[in-house]
Amino acid sequence: MRLLKEKITNEGIVLNNSILKVDAFLNHQIDPDLMMELGREFHKRFAAQNVTKILTIESSGIAVALTTALFFHVPVVFARKQKPSTMNENSYNTKVFSFTKNVTNNVSVLKKFLPPGEKVLILDDFLANGEAAMGLADLATQAGSTVVGIGIVIEKSFQPGRKRLIDAGFQVESLARIKAFENDQIVFVENEE
Ligand code: 5GP
Repeated sequence: MRLLKEKITNEGIVLNNSILKVDAFLNHQIDPDLMMELGREFHKRFAAQNVTKILTIESSGIAVALTTALFFHVPVVFARKQKPSTMNENSYNTKVFSFTKNVTNNVSVLKKFLPPGEKVLILDDFLANGEAAMGLADLATQAGSTVVGIGIVIEKSFQPGRKRLIDAGFQVESLARIKAFENDQIVFVENEE
């Protein structure tokens, strides 16, 4: 997606040749027009999958999950990293190690919002080692639902996440794929729109 790549190039900041900061349009301030275009693109890529529910993880996946859901006309569920005291009903739980924060979160979703038999599209802002996406897939599997695809806004292709998800049998669609950070400059995977 050319629009997204331009945004990343113009507004992204590379930290320590490993983390991309995109708080100008995705992770802190959010660009709503860009989110709509990302939603449109995810809808196009997963249109054949009969998606019935979108599953993401708080907080940075929520905006793009919502715009994608507007195209599919299905609900969004976001897994919680800290279980609020109001969330005392039955839940599915899994552990997700956070690449950027270096902590393991207990991630939960209420059973009533993830009933069996859903066709779940998993969405997230970044793909690094695949921990978040695999954790979300685990929640969907515990629920007796099927993961019909995994959509990622920004994939760091030099990290193992993509291979891990593909080896697990998932269709992975990433809207921007980064091959490397070279001297804090962003190099995209070639031959992609
Ligand atoms: P993974 O679970 O695939 O190892 O890492 C993806 C998760 O870590 C995403 O949910 C995202 O919040 C965070 N993350 C990983 N790499 C980056 C990065 O380069 N920049 C930002 N802003 N977040 C990242």
